[in-house]
Amino acid sequence: MTETTGVMKPGDTLGILGGGQLGRMIAMAAARLGVRTVVLEPDPKCPAEQVASHHIAADYDNMEALELLARECRAVTYEFENIPAGAARFLDERGLLFPGTMALEKSQDRLAEKEFIRQCGAQTAPFYAIGSDLDLLKLCEGGFDGILKTRRFGYDGKGQVRITPEMSREDLERAFASLKGAESILEGFVDFDCEISVIAARSRDGEIRAYDPARNIHRNGILDTSRLPSGVPSATIAAAKEIASDILSALGYVGVIGIEFFVLRDGSLVVNEMAPRVHNSGHWTEAACAVSQFEQHVRAVCGWPLGDPSRHSDCIMENLIGQDVDRFDSLLGKPGLSIHLYGKSETRPGRKMGHFTRLTGPAS
Ligand code: AMP
Repeated sequence: MTETTGVMKPGDTLGILGGGQLGRMIAMAAARLGVRTVVLEPDPKCPAEQVASHHIAADYDNMEALELLARECRAVTYEFENIPAGAARFLDERGLLFPGTMALEKSQDRLAEKEFIRQCGAQTAPFYAIGSDLDLLKLCEGGFDGILKTRRFGYDGKGQVRITPEMSREDLERAFASLKGAESILEGFVDFDCEISVIAARSRDGEIRAYDPARNIHRNGILDTSRLPSGVPSATIAAAKEIASDILSALGYVGVIGIEFFVLRDGSLVVNEMAPRVHNSGHWTEAACAVSQFEQHVRAVCGWPLGDPSRHSDCIMENLIGQDVDRFDSLLGKPGLSIHLYGKSETRPGRKMGHFTRLTGPAS
């Protein structure tokens, strides 16, 4: 290992690409461990800027900014998967990027991601590459129940259209046109019982630790609540952790990953997607575990041993989306409740403004 990529010490600096709430919470966890942070994010008023040691307000592919980051930091991580390939390569070639570029390549493209997940031995929804409206019309000839999703840049239900067997040729053409000609995949609709996610981490020396899966409820395509325990059978929990572990090993991953699953009625699992970063459905770990997903991520990327992911409490995490944040003062006095606001100056519909976690009893 070179001097640059060596294990970090308190007082060293960690770079973070992206300054949203996830970058902010990584910076806070780093600060608790005595690690300084530099955030690269174009928005001068981003949430992480308020808590990081230093903020570089520049585009992610700005060479001067990347060189500065490479000079100042002993490791660089990211809070979102759409890092420009050139920037990721620049940092990876210098041995600085954790997790590395393979995780980004797989998760930036839904087609590559699903193929990779299948190679790891896990199930996905049936999927088909769609390059034109003709591809879609052909696949839907006899009727198709599914979701058309852009291969890239989709999040929180954006870049998706529901496809149903009743849709006419014109409906299908309209559905394709609504994605503005973007390369897409058509996924079969999964009639699931519930959705869960596993937050897991892999250290630089290959140790893997997983948190208990949360049961997630989405509202308008955005995560609304995560609940622990998930209520799914223990064999399903073990299988979900096993799949997470296989994916982390296959990627040679370093850091925290979030993997979303559909649980079918027979308890079997279908992987929906993976996010190579800390994840919204892991925010509960701040309140219900000794070591949060944010601290776990910082430990991993710094080259430190992972912490204990066990859960001391049952809990429910709820996102504060848009105007929900106006309720925050009525939440402050509630027993067992911890609240986290992201410091965003403008409230907009659908924007994640904060979250709270309510502890509901000792871990069951
Ligand atoms: P995604 O952006 O792919 O995570 O999708 C957002 C949400 O849409 C998921 O959490 C599910 O609730 C739902 N969804 C996505 N893909 C499918 C599918 N193939 N079948 C059924 N529901 C889905």
